[in-house]
Amino acid sequence: MNTSPTVLPAGATTTSFGAPPRRAGRRRLARLLPTPLWWRDACGAFVWCTMLVVVALWVVGGGVQELAQVGTALTSIGRLSGLVASDLLLIQVLLMARIPMVERTFGQDELARRHRWVGFSSFNLMLVHIAAITLGYAATSPNGLWATIVDFIVNYPGMLLAVAGTVIVVGVTITSIRVARARLRYESWHLLHLYAYLGLGLALPHQLWTGKDFLTSRVATVFWWTLWVVAAVSVLIWRVGQPLWRSLRHRLVVEQVRAENDQVTTVVMRGRMLHRLPVRAGQFFQWRFLDGPGFTRANPYSLSAAPDGRTLRITAAHLGDGSARLASLRPGTRVFFEGPYGRLHEGVRTRRKILLMASGIGITPMRALLEELDQRPGEVTLLYRAGSEKGRILVDELSALAGRRQARLFVVTGRRATRRSSWLPEHAAHLGDVEALRQLVPDVANHDVFICGSPGWMDAAEQAVLRAGVPPENVHIERFAY
Ligand SMILES: Cc1cc2nc3c(=O)[nH]c(=O)nc-3n(C[C@H](O)[C@H](O)[C@H](O)COP(=O)(O)OP(=O)(O)OC[C@H]3O[C@@H](n4cnc5c(N)ncnc54)[C@H](O)[C@@H]3O)c2cc1C
Repeated sequence: MNTSPTVLPAGATTTSFGAPPRRAGRRRLARLLPTPLWWRDACGAFVWCTMLVVVALWVVGGGVQELAQVGTALTSIGRLSGLVASDLLLIQVLLMARIPMVERTFGQDELARRHRWVGFSSFNLMLVHIAAITLGYAATSPNGLWATIVDFIVNYPGMLLAVAGTVIVVGVTITSIRVARARLRYESWHLLHLYAYLGLGLALPHQLWTGKDFLTSRVATVFWWTLWVVAAVSVLIWRVGQPLWRSLRHRLVVEQVRAENDQVTTVVMRGRMLHRLPVRAGQFFQWRFLDGPGFTRANPYSLSAAPDGRTLRITAAHLGDGSARLASLRPGTRVFFEGPYGRLHEGVRTRRKILLMASGIGITPMRALLEELDQRPGEVTLLYRAGSEKGRILVDELSALAGRRQARLFVVTGRRATRRSSWLPEHAAHLGDVEALRQLVPDVANHDVFICGSPGWMDAAEQAVLRAGVPPENVHIERFAY
């Protein structure tokens, strides 16, 4: 690597040598299906349509007329909030069902954020539903509040199950509040979170057996059954069936385990017919290594090398038990996987020029992208931010790749800036974020930018590229935590 002529002081380096590559030995890979822009609108329209149908059914069922008196008004509001809460609960399930169209359109980090927002909205509406229905019935009953509650639970079909379901959903929601979640191990939180499916299942009978809107209208019955069946079938197909089928079909086994340093491990896996797997550099899978207890937990890792139709490779930092265990994997260990997932791939590209920005372990998908992206000399720039010389990984590979592909590589090393949020290290923080970026990539505004790294650094990097004139739709991001 040559020292860069740019103003970034120590550690800023660039390479540019050699002839364009001929990538030998690669099989013809499965085609990555396009993701049309209208899919986003179609998904949004679907959600709003279901909401519209729910409200329309409530109106047709006399919901508006019932607002005339206090008692019936409360019951009516309770019914509407319960129906919208149910709709949102099912939307929540659909958001996380890994439906290819939805996953490819939004990406899992955005889906997780939306799932969280929809979840809390649905939970709040469920509380309104319980309170309003109970008060509404109590207002029109001679028995008072407590007798009405007991009557509900004991005499209405499915209500006891609904109470149990509600308790579970309350537990899941409380553990998802940020403060509570931060205190739990990820695996414990995730396991608890899966109980939401049980809570949802337990709430169904009361809707079917006592819900006026379910029982009185054929259209309503068909609508709700369709939504429930679509949600259940989606989960079964894309969260269970497809991962199982792909894992069995491709029979992935660990081929090689290599230490990049004492905190980072690379694992190469070999499988059958991998050229049929529609995966691209920059994407990730959920991995399960069948090496003993603990295989039930899946961890997401991006590919750290471009898929070649024969092998898949990941590189992981040892953060907790799951990632540290990778270092002791033995060749021959079977691997189950879910995926590929993620939007950080060639398919989202809209421009010839690409800037890849990575910090820390976020270099893994960028390493794969640098290898795979279709590029002419000088079209791709990789900017790799590392905390220290010791913490830099894959640098030899990056240099060799940048050389072969005639890409530009900048490795910017140094402790993170403490005085302000910045993508630059402390020793370069006197420079403006945009100014420094423009010095390395003068025409940055004409690039598609891919960003992956630690959360704070990614925010600073995103801000810098946006302020440098890159339109938001040309900034592509993969978060390693959500
Ligand atoms: C899309 C994506 C791609 C990733 N790619 C890489 C990569 O290429 N290399 C790499 O070193 N790391 C990557 N990570 C991070 C990696 O998944 C976590 O560091 C790893 O799962 C930690 O597991 P653990 O059991 O060692 O630690 P834990 O202590 O169990 O978890 C530490 C933290 O990791 C995150 N995490 C753990 N399991 C999951 C999960 N199943 N889903 C989402 N987040 C989880 C949580 O934020 C958790 O707080 C990626 C994460 C995501 C979401």
